[in-house]
This record gives sequence, structure tokens and C-alpha cells, in this order.
Amino acid sequence: MVNLSLLLGWKAIVQILILWLVIYHVFIFFKGTKAIYLLKGIIILLVAFFAFQKLGLTVLSWLLAKLFAFFLIFMAIIFQPELREGLVRLGKGHLFYIEAQKEEIEKTIKDIVSAAGKLSRRRIGALIAIKREIGLKNYIESGVNIEANLTSELLQNIFYPFAPLHDGGVIVVGSKVVAASCLFPLSDNSHLEKTLGMRHRAGVGLSEHSDALVVMVSEENGAISLAINGQLTRNLTPNDLFTILKGQMSKVA
Ligand code: ATP
Ligand code: MG
Repeated sequence: MVNLSLLLGWKAIVQILILWLVIYHVFIFFKGTKAIYLLKGIIILLVAFFAFQKLGLTVLSWLLAKLFAFFLIFMAIIFQPELREGLVRLGKGHLFYIEAQKEEIEKTIKDIVSAAGKLSRRRIGALIAIKREIGLKNYIESGVNIEANLTSELLQNIFYPFAPLHDGGVIVVGSKVVAASCLFPLSDNSHLEKTLGMRHRAGVGLSEHSDALVVMVSEENGAISLAINGQLTRNLTPNDLFTILKGQMSKVA
């Protein structure tokens, strides 16, 4: 068998590996953000540029080269926040930030599921919204600002009957509980079961008005439900809830 390192030389292999790592992390970094379209745009322009050059279409390749410079400047301005964040991560040695973010999301989900399970067993009502892409500023402002690290205990504490903030919904952003006692919009979906009360209508309502994932625990029967895009799934086990939340959140990370 031909030895690959002899064929290419070790320098070529090291360079290919480094390039692969950089391209892989740039893609992971942009995945799920609007900047992925920018990346695809740049790749298409580059391919077109090299194709024009190879074919000797000098006017087109000259034009594209000029356009490319403008394009880069425009993009640097438009994506300035993302670029700055990326450079800060790089500076802090956080190129593997996405991995850390995934772990954080998983911990958040575990804490929410653990709280839902315990609240369910004790028949304590709960309403927890997890922000995804769409901002929930209006709803956050309708409640009491908290900004606390999310833990299962904190969530249980908030919904404990007679606790000052138990009424209304909690909003989770990233790994933080940002607000409690929030008012969510009630769904007027006539297909919802008539026996469903306000908590569940508020959960479904918020999921109609945003892409938030809304977890509900019924104080009447302890059932755990989840509302996504106006659809309510009822009687979930904690394991089901974990699997669905993890699947849904991975679309965001
Ligand atoms: P459960 O199965 O727990 O009884 P439910 O769907 O039957 O839930 P209700 O019994 O009407 O709902 O629950 C009332 C609680 O729902 C209130 O105490 C309040 O905490 C919450 N709630 C009602 N309306 C809203 C709203 N618009 N936004 C957020 N929370 C609300
Ligand atoms: Mg009720």
C-alpha cells in the first residue's frame, strides 16, 4: 500500500488538517445563524470567480473581484456583532465554544425536566417557556425580572404554592431564568379541549405567537405537557420531554 504521508509530504497533510479544522469550525460557528447564507454566498462567488478565470472570461472575473471587495466590506459592517463575538471567543481560546454551548443547553433541559418531574409528582402547577430564536421581550416585561442561573431547585421554588412568584409563567433564556410571573397570550384555538384551563391556553398561546417551547405541569392531575408552534402534546413522561426538548433545541444551537 502507498504510504499517504510519503506521497503528499507531511507538510501537505498538516496543512490539509489545519484547513479542515478551520473550515469545520467556521461552519459549525455559523450553522443555524443567518450568517450561514453569507458563507454560502461567499463560496458561490469564489467558485464563480475561479471558473471565470479558468475560462478566460476576464471582464467577468475582474467585475467579480471588484464586487467581492465591496461585498466583504458590506458584510463586515452588517455582521459586525457576530464577527466581534467570534474574535472574542477566539481570543479567549473558546473556539470550541459551540461544544460548551451544547453542554449548557443539555444541562438547562435536564434541570427543566427534573423540575417538571418533581412538580408533577407533587401536583404543583407550572408554566415554563424556553426562548429559541424569537425574542420574548414583551412577555418578559409583563413579569418580574430575575436573571438567575437556572437550576431544578429554583424552578421548583418559584412554582411552590404561596411563593410570591408562582402565578403566571417563567421565561428561560439560555441557562438563565430571566423572569417569572409573566403573562402569556391566551390561545383562542377552538380545537383545544374545553376542559383545558388558563395555564394550558396561555402555554399554547405563547407557542402560537413565538417559536418558544412551553412546558406545562398541571396542578389538577400532574400531567406534563409541551406546546410547540401551537400544538399541545399532553401526558409526557420526563424521558419523553427530555428527548423532545433536546431535539428541538439542537435546531437552535
Ligand atoms: P391546571 O391543569 O394546572 O389546573 P389549567 O390549564 O386548568 O391548569 P388553570 O387551572 O386555569 O389552568 O390555571 C390557572 C393558573 O394558570 C393561574 O394560577 C396562573 O398561574 C396561570 N395563568 C392563567 N392565565 C395565564 C396567563 N395569561 N399567562 C400566564 N399564566 C397564566
Ligand atoms: Mg385548572
